[in-house]
Amino acid sequence: MGESQFPGPRLHLRNQPVAIELSAIDRHAPIVKTLHWPDEAATQQFAESLAALPDVGHAFIALHGDLGAGKTTFVRHLLHALGVTGRIKSPTYAVVEPYELPELNIWHFDFYRFADPREWEDAGFRDIFASPGLKLAEWPEKAGAMLPCADMDITIVTTPDAARHVTLRANTLTGVALLLAAPAEGPQP
Ligand code: ADP
Ligand code: MG
Repeated sequence: MGESQFPGPRLHLRNQPVAIELSAIDRHAPIVKTLHWPDEAATQQFAESLAALPDVGHAFIALHGDLGAGKTTFVRHLLHALGVTGRIKSPTYAVVEPYELPELNIWHFDFYRFADPREWEDAGFRDIFASPGLKLAEWPEKAGAMLPCADMDITIVTTPDAARHVTLRANTLTGVALLLAAPAEGPQP
């Protein structure tokens, strides 16, 4: 069966206009799981489970949450678990930090200061999103319609006791595969 007859969401969402992505989401209703991270060790544990899944190597993961929620911290644990050594800088000023592993390219975006849509083309972001590899984006809402649909949205909310309430939302088949990193659903603490 040719690709055109089998429009799997992962292969075909990335470069399509938003309207088409949204209709694909309609066909594949998002699947949501919630997690509780009592401390950073729990964040690390989830990052390590995610790193063990082959699908992470071609995923686009969007990270939502206020300043200090733990988006960059989560990315650091994920990248370390994937084999990145050395310092993992927050890309707040550079917008993107690339990492090259022997078998995996990773791009860590932070769109907090992204203001000029022309930068999207000029900085080669379109090419990055068309390339194989793992893409992670903090503040995806600041990139607006430029950004393709994420395979998985992770929303981190700090609770009054400084734990983290986390929502995972899978939008594509890749995203659904990544939900395997979450423990089996049970009563939440
Ligand atoms: P963001 O990128 O969302 O602005 P950061 O990751 O830079 O946030 O900062 C999160 C801060 O919260 C770090 O100092 C981290 O050590 C702390 N922290 C405490 N508990 C957690 C947790 N469960 N997960 C992630 N970070 C946590
Ligand atoms: Mg950050």
